[in-house]
Amino acid sequence: MLFSELGLHPETLRALVEAGYESPTPIQEKAIPHVLAGRDVLGIAQTGTGKTASFTLPMINALAAGRAKARMPRSLILEPTRELAAQVEQSFAVYGKYHKLNTVLLIGGESMSDQTKKLDRGVDVLIATPGRLLDQIERGNILPTDIRFLIIDECDRMLDMGFIPDIEKIVSKLRPSRQTLMFSATLPPEIRRLSDQFLNNPVEVSVSPPASAATTVTQAIVRVTHAEKRNALRFLIKSEDVKNALIFCNRKRDVAIVHKSLVSHGFDAGALHGDMAQSARTETLAKFKANELRLMVCSDVAARGLDIKGLSHVFNFDVPTHSEDYVHRIGRTGRAGMSGRAFMLVTGDDAKLLAGIEKLIGTTIPEVALDGFAVDTSDNEDQEPPARARRPSGRKTREAAAEAPSPEPDEMATSTAAPPPRHRSNRPTAPKSEPIRRSANESRRRQRADEDQDEPETVVGFGNRIPAFLQAVPRPRRD
Ligand code: AMP
Repeated sequence: MLFSELGLHPETLRALVEAGYESPTPIQEKAIPHVLAGRDVLGIAQTGTGKTASFTLPMINALAAGRAKARMPRSLILEPTRELAAQVEQSFAVYGKYHKLNTVLLIGGESMSDQTKKLDRGVDVLIATPGRLLDQIERGNILPTDIRFLIIDECDRMLDMGFIPDIEKIVSKLRPSRQTLMFSATLPPEIRRLSDQFLNNPVEVSVSPPASAATTVTQAIVRVTHAEKRNALRFLIKSEDVKNALIFCNRKRDVAIVHKSLVSHGFDAGALHGDMAQSARTETLAKFKANELRLMVCSDVAARGLDIKGLSHVFNFDVPTHSEDYVHRIGRTGRAGMSGRAFMLVTGDDAKLLAGIEKLIGTTIPEVALDGFAVDTSDNEDQEPPARARRPSGRKTREAAAEAPSPEPDEMATSTAAPPPRHRSNRPTAPKSEPIRRSANESRRRQRADEDQDEPETVVGFGNRIPAFLQAVPRPRRD
């Protein structure tokens, strides 16, 4: 099929030719005609399938006629992370280069007043993360009643990040006579419930089985001890033909540690996580995309949907706590038909997490042996790390195995003295069948989650649970 057969605007077709697109991807072929026909769509598609264009291209058609009014957006795209929101804005710049559409990005971590000034100039397309958008609506800076197009992207990610109550609140403020598109990589029952709630008689289009790993990615695990993880990572980077790589850690503090360690060993590395200032995040990502940085150590904030051209490698420094994150992480490479390689460092503590991932992807990930590294076969975090053992002879990864690394006393000491804490589930759970209600506390937490998209807050002291003996103490009157 050709783009010209889809009924897109001639100027959009011109922009697509200039972007080097020859034909629509399956999700574009399936979704675009329905969107142009005005139908609601539930799209089940992984990142990297071209789903962004499947909604931006027909939106350009629909928005080409008509004028933007100040503070009254004509369309709204909700994204779970700032990076994804920024990426969608770039897509509009590419596909809509011959249309004068005003796009406004509303993301956490940026000046509210600058955003408000942009809203005053009129908004055709508002691209937002939920917390910041709700904040701007509640301040009266946005009147959402004119929104005729709503796109809820990366829905399963939104669910994981606890954004659904915010989205429910946002949607309740929109006109019912709108066109709504929802995209998700997976379709758990909760997403099905949301689609029933938000969409009107939707067409369902699906382009790949949920949570399948791309066949263009060669995967391997490397069994190591905690103490040797950084050493093993460096060894892998040296032994593999790494053009550019993302290195995923589960926690922000480990992103910082691994980044510092790589830089101190002379690697060209940057870092990206939700605690960094937005300007630093944007700058690092831009450098990485422009191939000015070879390695980017990151948290899962970079795992969903980020499109980095020709990424050669993904290294999972940690086994992700949630199995689906593995699929999203390795999906950053092997995109657009190119091949990619994904390695994961696995310690004895990770047995259950690894089993969960292998169950999800329906295959056993092959093991690669690194000469000179000890193997951690324990699966009990309370045990002492096993004594360094000679790795059973296995295949060396390329030539660099010849320069087998020696352990580094500083890193060994640090890791042994402070073993990584237990993995704990950060995932907010929601009742399966009832709509989610938000308390004031929760609301504030969600708002913060928008600013800081990797880890929900740490519970301090008793958290929300006040023990009975504290509640029983009478308070002295102050008057
Ligand atoms: P997405 O899944 O929307 O993140 O898109 C993944 C990548 O595919 C992006 O780099 C797009 O620019 C690219 N892309 C999307 N549609 C096409 C197409 N029809 N032909 C070639 N590349 C495409």
